Amino acid sequence: MQGALGRRRVRRCPARHDVHMTGRFAPSPTGELHLGNLRTAVVAWLSARADRRPFLVRMEDLDRVQARPKHEAAQLRDMAALGLDWDGDVVRQSERFDLYDAAIDRLAAAGSVYECFCSRREIRNDIEAASSAPHGPPGSYPGTCRDLSLSARAARRASGRPPALRLRTDHGIYDFVDRLVGPQSGGVDDFVLRRNDGVPAYNLAVVVDDGLQGVTDVVRGDDLLPSTPRHVMLQQMLGIETPSYLHLPLVFGRDGERLAKSHGATTLGELRDAGVSSTAVMSWIGSSLELAAPGETVAVGDLVDRFDPAALPRDIALAPDFVLRPEA
Ligand SMILES: [Zn+2]
Repeated sequence: MQGALGRRRVRRCPARHDVHMTGRFAPSPTGELHLGNLRTAVVAWLSARADRRPFLVRMEDLDRVQARPKHEAAQLRDMAALGLDWDGDVVRQSERFDLYDAAIDRLAAAGSVYECFCSRREIRNDIEAASSAPHGPPGSYPGTCRDLSLSARAARRASGRPPALRLRTDHGIYDFVDRLVGPQSGGVDDFVLRRNDGVPAYNLAVVVDDGLQGVTDVVRGDDLLPSTPRHVMLQQMLGIETPSYLHLPLVFGRDGERLAKSHGATTLGELRDAGVSSTAVMSWIGSSLELAAPGETVAVGDLVDRFDPAALPRDIALAPDFVLRPEA
């Protein structure tokens, strides 16, 4: 109870009292979740459940992942093994292309979409040759196809290379307040909405899904922080309310690289095989979030009353010793 009262006191935004707020975790079912993914899932779950709010799981499988059912089942099994539950059916992006297409149609009807015929190499060369959008994120699209003449566009269409669709942005600066890292702002470029193989782009799908699913509370890895101004702009263009964001620092190996398979046993299954229980994993996650003492045995439910998003560590997390390869 003490924790709940304490949390209420630090709330700044009155909208956080809204009983309809909803959180989510949205992994890509490309393999088993590693410790970093699981740690993010725990924070996303705590963020929702600390306020007794719904928590959704969405599979981000736009690329129609190989062996998706197997990976999805393993990811859900591992979340359940850590005590994470979710509400409703798991949603899959691969089954929602019509929704993304409808959003692109709305943007196109407003004159905010154009065809881009550039290859990756052409974009790279153009970035080197010209100054790109002054405030855009690194690698910003330089706008090569933005204002093609009718004849130039016809010529490129005739070349047979199918175009990608890009958003015609205002190159503005977009602001948001991250619940962990504070006020953020960043520029946007004319990013891709639909790739030239017809697959909707992540930056579009994530905004459409969070909007349609009523997600108001996004917790995700801070590798997505630089993309968030794009999402905020797209939300404004589509009339979607910007959710509250919390970008969690990622887990790194002792070699300074982002945690990956090459670091050794990083999934619940691999760790179990190495003699590390899911209880020990939960204990590490709790202490790495400064919600449990080192070595303290905790269930995720024990952390609900201790959770305060503003008090989470803002630095990267180092992988625990039990991840290291035995022979390393
Ligand atoms: Zn182009």
